[in-house]
Amino acid sequence: MPKILIVGGGYAGFYTAWKLEKWLRPGEAEVTMVDPLPYMTYQPFLPEVAAGSIDPRHSVVAHRAHLKKTSVLTAKVTHVNHAAKTATITPPVGEPWEFAYDIVVVTAGAVSRTFPIPGVADQAIGLKTIEEAVAIRDKVLTNFDKAAQLPAGPERDRLLTFVVIGGGFAGIEVFAELRSFASSLLTKYPEIAFEDTHFHLIEAMGRIMPEVSESTALWVIKNLAERGAEVHLNTQLTSAVDGVIELSTGESFESDLIVWTAGVMANPGIVRNTDLPIEERGRLKVRTDLRVGTEDEIIEGAWGAGDITAVPDLSGGGVGGFCVPNAQHAVRQGKLMAKNIVAVLRGEGTVEYNHKNLGAVAGLGVGIGAFQSGKFAIKGFPAWVAHRGYHGLAMPSWERKIRVVGGWVLNVFLGRDIVSIEAVQTPRAVFEQFASRPKPPVAATAAVPAEVKAPRAPRKAPVKTPVEVAAAESGTESVVAP
Ligand SMILES: Cc1cc2nc3c(=O)[nH]c(=O)nc-3n(C[C@H](O)[C@H](O)[C@H](O)COP(=O)(O)OP(=O)(O)OC[C@H]3O[C@@H](n4cnc5c(N)ncnc54)[C@H](O)[C@@H]3O)c2cc1C
Repeated sequence: MPKILIVGGGYAGFYTAWKLEKWLRPGEAEVTMVDPLPYMTYQPFLPEVAAGSIDPRHSVVAHRAHLKKTSVLTAKVTHVNHAAKTATITPPVGEPWEFAYDIVVVTAGAVSRTFPIPGVADQAIGLKTIEEAVAIRDKVLTNFDKAAQLPAGPERDRLLTFVVIGGGFAGIEVFAELRSFASSLLTKYPEIAFEDTHFHLIEAMGRIMPEVSESTALWVIKNLAERGAEVHLNTQLTSAVDGVIELSTGESFESDLIVWTAGVMANPGIVRNTDLPIEERGRLKVRTDLRVGTEDEIIEGAWGAGDITAVPDLSGGGVGGFCVPNAQHAVRQGKLMAKNIVAVLRGEGTVEYNHKNLGAVAGLGVGIGAFQSGKFAIKGFPAWVAHRGYHGLAMPSWERKIRVVGGWVLNVFLGRDIVSIEAVQTPRAVFEQFASRPKPPVAATAAVPAEVKAPRAPRKAPVKTPVEVAAAESGTESVVAP
């Protein structure tokens, strides 16, 4: 039986495995999916997780709960040697080992792309994982808790100043969601006024959200400004050392939360550790039928999809002729790739990937959104309903859809959950502080000097000499031994 190895169980990998389970006949192939995480992350929900509108666990999809016929390995692929058709699997415990495959499917996604700006690597946080979204949410809440007890001054300003770098879709969404979150918190924190909270988004280009029209982008900037959130266009971050933000405009202020969303790059952990062909921008070279290679040369037994790949965009809408890295493409490519893999196994022809962008819909905080499809745009509340409607339906599996939509409905009646569980980072701290520890072992006691070890005699009143007694009685005793 041919062995299919899927590297990465995110959007593209998860959908490939899911559809292979559906379309492969029993005994036709054996599928293994490897991912260091036991779940697929629905990344479009990360801004709402950071803003406390979606429970973090609801926005991830457990591999083992939904993939019934796929072998799931929670481990990292650290090398793909396609010449030998082996991949190195590095598990969380134990030694790396070689997996021999017949077909490899590379869907290891992308990571945050940063620039060597001083302080960014040490101070900023990305927004590609559920862990980052949870940490951002907890940070906002913890900072409110701290600031509520401080008098006005630089430390309080620093805690209540929130910065996002990058005005793409993800950046604007998290910026707007955090503004909405902070505003909703004010009713619970009477010590903090609206004017005490500061929101800055830094964008190097002259506009935000290239996926929407200029007029929609301008509406978003105006809407954010009205809500007390400032977008700095044509501005670059020059330093973030110790949380001191320095901008190319000369402006400077301090911030305790810097969210970096200025672009992504193909997962270096895979593209730098494989003999598969990589194009000049560091992505895996993939054909229109999602086989690795070029239109003239097929790399037999290798497939790829999603953010890690450069798939030619036949609709003509792609940047530089390639599909942009988004979930719309990753999901559809995953599904088509499963179909094409099955077709090749059966000696049939493949189908080319051709998807015309459906448009873009952004959630900008509770009750506000922006939608754009071609020249058609909707803004404000109806767009927010469209955002929740679209993503509520796009979330894989009914089980997850019900959890997410159920959470939204509960929030309408009960409000967002506003508890920071930042202490989860040090879960043993209190237990350790008060935990009883065994007495030092006998061997350690033996090493202690004899005079310290000797048992103490019961404390008695010191026996006084007759001279001392006489002195005491006559009132001349000046020194009493302890
Ligand atoms: C905040 C945010 C909001 C977004 N909003 C939208 C939106 O509204 N609409 C839209 O279309 N797109 C959106 N996107 C983009 C979309 O989520 C991505 O394009 C999509 O997730 C790409 O899918 P993928 O399968 O290529 O990668 P991913 O979904 O990132 O999956 C990659 C998988 O590979 C795994 N992996 C990594 N390294 C290894 C390794 N060494 N070995 C094995 N596995 C590995 C990872 O753990 C991960 O599970 C958003 C992204 C973000 C960050």
